[in-house]
Amino acid sequence: MSDDVIPLPRDDSLPGTLPEFTRKFSSDNACAALLRRWKYGEEGFRCPRCGGRRAWFLPSRRLDECVSCHKQVSLTSGTVMHGSRKPLRLWFLAMFLFVVSKQGISAMDLSRQLGISYPTAWTWLHKLRAAVGTRAKTMLHGVVEADETWEGGVERGLPGRPTVGKKKALIAGAIEVKRKKGWGRLRLQSVETASAASLGAFLHENVAPGSTLLTDDWRSYRRPAKEAGYRHIATNMKTVPEGAHTVLPGIHRVFALLHRVLLTTHQGAVSRKHLQNYVEEFAFRFNRRSSASRGLLFQRVLSAAVMRAAPCYWEILGRPDPDTPLWMAA
Ligand SMILES: [Zn+2]
Repeated sequence: MSDDVIPLPRDDSLPGTLPEFTRKFSSDNACAALLRRWKYGEEGFRCPRCGGRRAWFLPSRRLDECVSCHKQVSLTSGTVMHGSRKPLRLWFLAMFLFVVSKQGISAMDLSRQLGISYPTAWTWLHKLRAAVGTRAKTMLHGVVEADETWEGGVERGLPGRPTVGKKKALIAGAIEVKRKKGWGRLRLQSVETASAASLGAFLHENVAPGSTLLTDDWRSYRRPAKEAGYRHIATNMKTVPEGAHTVLPGIHRVFALLHRVLLTTHQGAVSRKHLQNYVEEFAFRFNRRSSASRGLLFQRVLSAAVMRAAPCYWEILGRPDPDTPLWMAA
């Protein structure tokens, strides 16, 4: 896989099943040990201030304190766990459940299974989604199907492809067609409109120049395809009595699956504002559907998660944190 992931230390075979998980991460210390090895590598602690190699670990505060200069270094800074006071083991378990669930896990389920509050579960899932969604990506290439779909169903009676209404949201998708192996990688994005500007931005970001692009004959695909130098094959669906799914079978199947996941796992409760996170999570799972080892998947989420500081609950909601003192919020 070409995605940029910090590899875990070699000796850390990661859990693929729940019993394996509970054996391996039986305590917060076991989780902290893995994070420490990950953060400092085989050589161990190095003080960012004085370069000292010896430290005391303060488990309750998840800090390494340099023996020479007493500089304290947080183990979870720059990770999704940053600032959380919940046990590391709960976080690891949340990541594990997030990975092993085939169609994702809802905040309600996670809250029940971990015994944490609903808002906490909701925030954690958004942090994990944000972490897997913002990772470095390579562009799709070769033969690529592209199309768009409405989340929430198409409003009847509206001619053509209307712009996003209050409740409906538009999702653009592209998937690689592999002659022998079926489908390759998938990219999904929540877009504002079905205009050439919106769809063009999505395509140019995700499909490499020179690719062969298969679409229906919606006019918004023409200009972006020309600009990027795609070999563009547009099919007028009216000339295909068998239906659009025979011309663009890959992306249509993906859209059908996506709608099902949004309706079942998340009970249709996904707001437009957060739709991008959900579709990225879906693409993340889809792109790893053939991975033989769940342990490897777990590693990818864990490593993706520690690569960025995650937004807090109030940032996700786009509201000021009521607990933040005014002088800090300013
Ligand atoms: Zn030091």
